[in-house]
Amino acid sequence: MIEPLPLTSIPPDDEALRAPVRAFLDEKLRGIPLETRARSWMGFDVEFSRALARRGWVGLTLPPEYGGGGRSYFARFVLAEELLANCAPVSAHWIAERQSAPQILRYGTDAQKQFYVPRICRAEVFFCIGMSEPQAGSDLAGVRTRATKATNGWRLNGQKIWTTNAYRANYMIALVRTSGTTEDRHKGLSQFIVDLSLPGVSVRPIEDLTGEKHFCEVFFENVDLSDNALIGAEGAGWEQVTAELAFERSGPERLYSSMVLFDAWLAHVREAELVSDTSRRFAGKIAAHLAVLRAMSISVTAKIVQGQSPVVEAALVKDMGTEIEQLIPAAIADLLGADPDRPASAALLRALSYVTHIAPSFSLRGGTREILRGVIARGMGLR
Ligand SMILES: Cc1cc2nc3c(=O)[nH]c(=O)nc-3n(C[C@H](O)[C@H](O)[C@H](O)COP(=O)(O)OP(=O)(O)OC[C@H]3O[C@@H](n4cnc5c(N)ncnc54)[C@H](O)[C@@H]3O)c2cc1C
Repeated sequence: MIEPLPLTSIPPDDEALRAPVRAFLDEKLRGIPLETRARSWMGFDVEFSRALARRGWVGLTLPPEYGGGGRSYFARFVLAEELLANCAPVSAHWIAERQSAPQILRYGTDAQKQFYVPRICRAEVFFCIGMSEPQAGSDLAGVRTRATKATNGWRLNGQKIWTTNAYRANYMIALVRTSGTTEDRHKGLSQFIVDLSLPGVSVRPIEDLTGEKHFCEVFFENVDLSDNALIGAEGAGWEQVTAELAFERSGPERLYSSMVLFDAWLAHVREAELVSDTSRRFAGKIAAHLAVLRAMSISVTAKIVQGQSPVVEAALVKDMGTEIEQLIPAAIADLLGADPDRPASAALLRALSYVTHIAPSFSLRGGTREILRGVIARGMGLR
């Protein structure tokens, strides 16, 4: 059974981070068109990530001895919330700082920690996640990419798919099979840090519904990896990857993907004097849902601060959060369509078009809705 989530507030010291982050974003995001800002998660802007890093805001929770900020997860909550609610382009450093660095710190050798983590905190190197394969998405234990022991390390062969930013990242943390077969499921899997510039690695971006390229196919053909590329213990890849997914699902990341669109719609309603019972009801519904989800997300953060791993609670917040993220563009399209005499601006319509096309991915990336509901049901003792 899962425990009720206790209502928690963000400590004042961490809340104090909000004002300087807002001031920084006001300056950096001024003049960026709505439709560009709507990309946020997908917005890959190395200069923005480096400017953030210079303020000490990449790797905020990571230990100072590795270049991190040494702050609590509440401070990261405030930072992430401001970045996403204001639709900052976070894609370049996001994966490395949220998942790869904590993973390396938890399972890596001293040499790996010293080599990678300070570079991640300076936004000098970017990572991607090599989990999914053509026959292994939800069924991740079915990965077939294989590393076999060679004289001076490992030889890697296989294919990954849907790898966000692989064509512009420096490294991938890949889940691969090092022994046994797919029938062995969770046994015999390991994680490697793969330098994507190595001979034998080829990357092919995939165009999505919006016409943009962010995720990729990645092929490994006799890629020679040194022994130092293995992260954690050989054969412990499944436990490690499960811990990594908890980092991915636990933040406020799953609430704000449609927020800039919602804000722009509210501004349109006010300017065009379209305030009606219907628009009021919709705005109230979103505000009420967000308030509850935000409180839940802060409670999940409190559990992480206490050293717990709230896998089930994080799955719950992600599932409910993506529902709201997907409801916003659909409802706004209906509301705008119901009032054709007072049309929205081209900028609002372009943002709506982008968010509508990208919205199906909200409940796929980081684990699909059905898989998360399975996790929740198991956590509640229902299966
Ligand atoms: C924008 C985006 C970015 C991504 N980035 C990355 C990345 O960087 N790295 C990476 O490794 N992967 C990434 N992915 C891949 C993502 O993790 C997978 O798409 C996801 O895990 C689902 O796998 P699949 O696409 O193979 O679908 P499938 O697993 O084939 O699922 C198809 C459908 O069947 C349902 N289903 C499957 N199994 C069950 C079950 N047991 N019970 C009930 N329903 C089930 C699923 O919920 C889904 O609706 C990304 C995906 C997206 C959309």
